[in-house]
Amino acid sequence: QFTDTLKSVARNLEIKKYIQQSNELYPIFERASKRFVTGDSREDGLSVGNQLIQKGYRISLEYIGENTTSKDECIQAKDEFITLMKECAKQGLSSRISLDLSHIGLSIDPQLAYQYLVEIAKEAQSDDLSIMISMEESTKTDQILSIYKRVVVDYSNVGITLQAQLQRTLNDINDLLNYAGTIRIVKGAYQEPPDICIPRSQNLNERYLELVDLCVKAGKQVSIASHDEVMYQQIIERGYLQNPNVEAEMLYGIHPDLCKQLKDDGLPVRVYLTYGTEWYLYLCHRIAEYPPNIYVAITDMIRG
Ligand code: FAD
Repeated sequence: QFTDTLKSVARNLEIKKYIQQSNELYPIFERASKRFVTGDSREDGLSVGNQLIQKGYRISLEYIGENTTSKDECIQAKDEFITLMKECAKQGLSSRISLDLSHIGLSIDPQLAYQYLVEIAKEAQSDDLSIMISMEESTKTDQILSIYKRVVVDYSNVGITLQAQLQRTLNDINDLLNYAGTIRIVKGAYQEPPDICIPRSQNLNERYLELVDLCVKAGKQVSIASHDEVMYQQIIERGYLQNPNVEAEMLYGIHPDLCKQLKDDGLPVRVYLTYGTEWYLYLCHRIAEYPPNIYVAITDMIRG
């Protein structure tokens, strides 16, 4: 219930505007975001990325943003992703670039998102980098998958995220096994109607493992994107993470002890780093999916 309420609050644009315009609240929330977001600038993301690579992690980098409603903002986001990749190439930083299609035009016109994704994928190919498309609300799943399938035919360096919580994902994954590209499997961060969604439960964990199993048996590159310690134990017992096509992927600042333990055990671990000024919704997502994070956030806000 708390999770659902917080997700609704997070998406309320009036509350967001109020916080952003408040001289008292904005710096407090910004402080709390620092645990999960590397900073406002590209340099912040690159700097943390470099440090993590030196420690033996792989990285994903995302310039935060979603549901962009003007073409100018979409162009700015697309250009930022391209500059980010050029900078990665210059610094010899082997990173995956993560993005939401609604950040680069999906909410305005799917054709625009397709066109910008092709530009980004082309740049990634010439920089020897890969792209990972995030999965958004279920109302966008068909559009995102359709754009993905069009692009991956020419750019096998583009991957797609699938949400185990959606009932449809079992069919989607069977279909996507016929395409190139890495599959990232997450449980799902969005509040979805109960008739299409499996809630957090043992059933969901079993479905998650079933999806990983399908990918592994098909020889797909797969990212297990979760912080669930119990599920990782089962994944390791099944030998999945010892498979060269499989890696663990975790969000920066979340369960860093588990992240380090897996890496120290010699398993491949990717850390998902974000930067940018649109951190508000990202922060709310992290708190909503794990309510004890509210205490962590409040402590960060008070300590400064
Ligand atoms: P849960 O079942 O939610 O939690 C299991 C356990 O993990 C908890 O008991 C706790 O011990 C730990 N844990 C989980 N979350 C936290 C937290 N925030 N802080 C501290 N501990 C925690 N979702 C999408 O819908 N679309 C995407 O494109 C997407 N991309 C993602 C990319 C990456 C790399 C990752 C790691 C997640 C992504 N997510 C995405 C979010 C995902 O769907 C889940 O909401 C999130 O990972 C929490 O689920 P979980 O698998 O960690 O397990």
